[in-house]
Amino acid sequence: MIAVEDLVVAYGTAVALDHVTLQVGAGEMVALLGPNGAGKSTLANTLAGLLRPASGTVTTGGRLALIPEGRQLFPDLTVADNLALGGWRSGARDPSAVYDVLPRLAELAKRKAGVLSGGEQQMVAFGRALMSRPDVLVVDELSLGLAPAVTADLAAHLTELNRSRGLAVLLIEQNARLAFELCGRAYVLESGRLVTEGRSAALAGDPRVAGAYLGGA
Ligand code: ATP
Repeated sequence: MIAVEDLVVAYGTAVALDHVTLQVGAGEMVALLGPNGAGKSTLANTLAGLLRPASGTVTTGGRLALIPEGRQLFPDLTVADNLALGGWRSGARDPSAVYDVLPRLAELAKRKAGVLSGGEQQMVAFGRALMSRPDVLVVDELSLGLAPAVTADLAAHLTELNRSRGLAVLLIEQNARLAFELCGRAYVLESGRLVTEGRSAALAGDPRVAGAYLGGA
């Protein structure tokens, strides 16, 4: 669903992604971990076509949607209008399929996005991404700034879409515990380079990864 091959992305002369190669298969949930400034958002934005690679290739099978870091909603527009913008490119206008998956959004439809809680706003960003009926979803920081119970609720919806519809997911997370719980495999990015990858269970048991990303657990 996603094939990234020897990808280099730079801002001017500053290299943000340095020969990165990774894959997400159909129906897979894969995590991308890394500290601030590692290049995770740069990868997300390159996958979404917002940044152009200096070299290397990005291939996506099927439709790809992004939940961007910081949600990027229009605060003065209603939830319904924010959702409609998500369907704009694919011509999808009817949000009812999204309301079926995320019924809370139907209740919030007439509210302005800017007045919602962080968790509700993340759900709107989630719903907006689903409007285009994606085959693969890139989530840039699901849990950032959210209470654990709110994160767990969103994560449950994500897992359900993966199980029931085979939605492939690249989950970019600073919360490694959550990422390992949700995803079978993970990549670790540091300073623009992939430093390790493997099954989540193996990575969680790797003292170097656990020390850096699981608070030594
Ligand atoms: P965070 O979790 O803090 O968002 P990240 O892993 O997503 O971090 P990026 O935002 O992709 O990291 O940043 C990677 C590198 O590129 C950093 O050194 C950052 O300072 C730099 N960078 C990001 N955006 C720009 C930009 N628009 N112009 C110049 N440099 C940038």
